[in-house]
Order: sequence, then structure tokens, then C-alpha cells
Amino acid sequence: METSPLFLAQSLLRCPSVTPEEGGALAFIEGVLKEAGFEVHRPVFSEPGTPDVENLYARYGSGEPYLLFAGHTDVVPPGDTSRWTYGPFSGEVHDGELYGRGAVDMKGGIACMMAAALDFIRANPDFKGSIGFLITGDEEGPAVNGTVKLLEWAKGRGERFDHCILGEPTNPNRLGDMIKIGRRGSLTGRVVVEGKQGHVAYPHLAENPIPGLLRLLSGLLSEPLDHGTEHFDASNLEVTSVDVGNPASNVIPAQARATFNIRFNDLWTPHSLEEEVERRLREAAGNTVRYTLTMEPTNAVAFLTPPNAFVGFIADAIKAETGWEPKLSTTGGTSDARFIVKYCPVVEFGLVGQTMHQVDERVEVADLDRLATIYRKVLEAYFAASA
Ligand SMILES: [Zn+2]
Repeated sequence: METSPLFLAQSLLRCPSVTPEEGGALAFIEGVLKEAGFEVHRPVFSEPGTPDVENLYARYGSGEPYLLFAGHTDVVPPGDTSRWTYGPFSGEVHDGELYGRGAVDMKGGIACMMAAALDFIRANPDFKGSIGFLITGDEEGPAVNGTVKLLEWAKGRGERFDHCILGEPTNPNRLGDMIKIGRRGSLTGRVVVEGKQGHVAYPHLAENPIPGLLRLLSGLLSEPLDHGTEHFDASNLEVTSVDVGNPASNVIPAQARATFNIRFNDLWTPHSLEEEVERRLREAAGNTVRYTLTMEPTNAVAFLTPPNAFVGFIADAIKAETGWEPKLSTTGGTSDARFIVKYCPVVEFGLVGQTMHQVDERVEVADLDRLATIYRKVLEAYFAASA
């Protein structure tokens, strides 16, 4: 069977796997991995109120160490397909670029992982470790019936991973730019200030909640939360909405609300942040502002995989293949890595993210070959180190 990164990527791109549809993508991976000797499982997870989602778990070998490749085959919708130069599910190549929804996020990355693993196994059929694939169909959607449950399911079977590479598109501009060795956490809060509705001409009979809300918000924003850490930028509190919902210019509203979101580094936990927010609001409110604060539950906690030997294997492979010294970063939004890190150290490295979620999402065919080579070199170094 042909196992070039381009062939594998094209085959995956031709599967219309918009979340939560499997679209044939996992079936394709199952076929390829089974033929190469992997044991493959296809658990389906359900939850009331969300669509059932198909997932895939595959393992080759039974020894240690166990290196896991993780990713997702679901893609965001293509949008207006007439705006695409080539069909979003056609997998066409033009001028050295492969087009299609998922080309970089992240069917292209999965194709490279598969090509690398198959190539490594062909060359080292009796290596003393295990290679696995943990592939979900629910990353771009509600993310309820995907990675979280798949990890629990695997744990329930007694699976234990040593390290994981998540193949999200981590490079901003060119392959080799950036490895993600952690992610910031995310926490959302809402504050509501109570007043008393009334006529603007009779303010003494009313109580305007807006000045109170302004005081609270300036209290929240008065000082930076921190100044960053060795591997993280400073935490950031962003006010995302201020809302009174008052269409009349002659009415003092009864209530004013604001929402804010904090992207936080490894100095904080959701709990310690909540305490800090409470402290700032209490101080700003004094005895005069009546308010309530609600913090939304979050599963996005800041985490870091410290730059160790494992990160070194990846950085070295990147340098050898591209010549670039990759930046070790913790920037950007949250990813499934926040779930995986509860089971084993995880590092993210994939393709160039520039066109992800866009019309004409595409990847350079040469980048597919180079990423597959990088993953292959990582496998080589990883298993050689434990031999
Ligand atoms: Zn993705």
C-alpha cells in the first residue's frame, strides 16, 4: 500500500468529515494502520444533547516506552464552497500545494505522523517500544465525546503513555518556527451590578448601576496580574462585553453587566485567580456598589512540559531537517493538549497554521514530506535513547 505523506493526506482530505461526521476518515486510517500491524479500536462515545462521535485508538507493540501521536480528523465546515479555488474535499494539488479543508488543521499532520510511523516500523519491526495513535472526531465541535473520553477509555483498558506529540499546526509562518510546550489557561467571569430603575430627570429616586460597574472594571484592570514567567507571557484579563440592554435614553437602567476572560500562565490556578478577582472587586466596590460575581467552570488550566530530553528530540529533528531553531512557545488558544497532559507529558508540533479554518486551506507538499521526516527522526531518536 502506498504510504507517502501526500497520498495519505489526499485520501484523508477526500473524506468530508465535518464535525461530527466521520466521513470515512477514521475508516481509512484504520485500514492503513491494521495493514501495518497495529491493533485498532474505534470507540463511539455519546452524551445526551450532543451528537455521537466516532474515535480511533491504535497501538503497535506492547513494550515501553510508549510514544503516542494525537490528533483529530474532524474539520470545520468549508463555508461557501464556490469561494474555494479547488473543491474543499477534492484533495487537488496545484503548484506544489495541496488544497482542502483540514490540509493543515490537521489531516495533513496526521498523514505525516502515519507516514513516519509506518516507515519507522518497516525499518525497525522489532523495536522495543510502542507507537500509538489517539485520533478523535470531536475536536472542532463540542469536544465532549472526543479526546477526554478516549483517554479515559484507554486508561480503563490499562494503557499507559510515556510521551505524546499532538500534531496541531503550531508554526506561524514556516515549518520549524515553533513547538508548543504548554498552553495558557482560560477563565471567564461575569459581574452584575444591581441598581434601581428610574426616570433620568429624577435621579434621586433611582440608583444608576453603570458608575458602579465602571468602578469595578477599572479595579479589575488597575494592575497587571503578573509579568510573565520563564516560558509564559504575562497573564491577561480582557473585558469582552459591557451590557446594560437599555434602549431608552430617558431611563436609568436597573442592572449593568460585564463579562471578562482571563488567559493565565503557570503562576495561577483557576482558584487563585478567582480569589484575586474577588479581592479586586471587593476593594473597588467599597460599601457602595452592590454586585454579584459568577466564574464559569473551566477545564483549561495552564500547563507546561518543561524543555527536557523529549522536547530536545523534537527540536533537534526540526533543526536537522529545516535548519531552524524552533521557538519553545506557550502562546495561542487552548487545545486538546490540556486533556492529554493529565496522562503524560505532551508537546505540540505540526504544519504551518496560516490558512487553517480559511477558504483555500492548503499546505505545501514539500512541507508534508519535511514534517514526516521530522517525525521519523523523532521516533528514531526517541527509541534509540531507550534501547
Ligand atoms: Zn486542529
